[in-house]
Amino acid sequence: MANRRPVIAGNWKMFKTVNEAEDYAVRFLEEVKEVTELDIILCAPFTALHPLKNELEESVVHLGAQNMSWADQGAYTGEISAQMLLDVACTYVILGHSERRELFGETDQEIAKKVQKALAAGLKPILCVGENLNVREEGKAAERVKGQVSLALSSLSAEELNPIVIAYEPIWAIGTGKTASSKDAQEMCAAIRTTLTGLMGPAAENVPILYGGSVKAENIAELLNEPDVDGALVGGASLDPLSFAKLVQNAAAVVARVEGI
Ligand code: PEP
Repeated sequence: MANRRPVIAGNWKMFKTVNEAEDYAVRFLEEVKEVTELDIILCAPFTALHPLKNELEESVVHLGAQNMSWADQGAYTGEISAQMLLDVACTYVILGHSERRELFGETDQEIAKKVQKALAAGLKPILCVGENLNVREEGKAAERVKGQVSLALSSLSAEELNPIVIAYEPIWAIGTGKTASSKDAQEMCAAIRTTLTGLMGPAAENVPILYGGSVKAENIAELLNEPDVDGALVGGASLDPLSFAKLVQNAAAVVARVEGI
């Protein structure tokens, strides 16, 4: 974390009904309402977005979705458009999560189209990249991840890319309890920043790069101490409002210490 504003984003994946989401929002907001040191995002399932819009209005918590279509509208059964997300007050959208790539066959080309559409519509994409265990063991993790970033972003100008957020999520660390060491996370986030510099010049210094993969309240501080790790994308540990609030508070304490607040 350098001079960039840190981001802590929760990814609920396919969990929580409307009632559960509303109950979560009330309990979570009570705990984090005073947190101003970083951006907090909840990325909820589509059905919970509208109720959350009402719960989170004028709060410190931003709303995000977990996927969207590259199309504007039309005969695309089962898809959700950028305009529909804006309509329920989403400001962020996760794109290219490894579960979408691996389980639903999303390609780098489709992800690039989605990133372009989100940016054009005024949504901030949280672009997920990350290598699997085989690629890491072959020593090709940085190459794979840099390739994913380039394929998703290279058709966009530096100005268009300004709102982008990147999440480095090694697949072997997602939901497994295995976290990349803070040194490995730093190395990969720095490699991503170098690629971004090639695409957008000095503006790459302003892009938040998050780490994701079994982040918890107990390990967020160590990760945030790394210069190129600007926050976290959190799956499992975002499902309980009190544990996620604790993680956010621990992150805010690191920011406050660094800034000497
Ligand atoms: C994720 O789903 O993006 C993720 C990082 O999950 P977890 O925190 O459970 O590893």
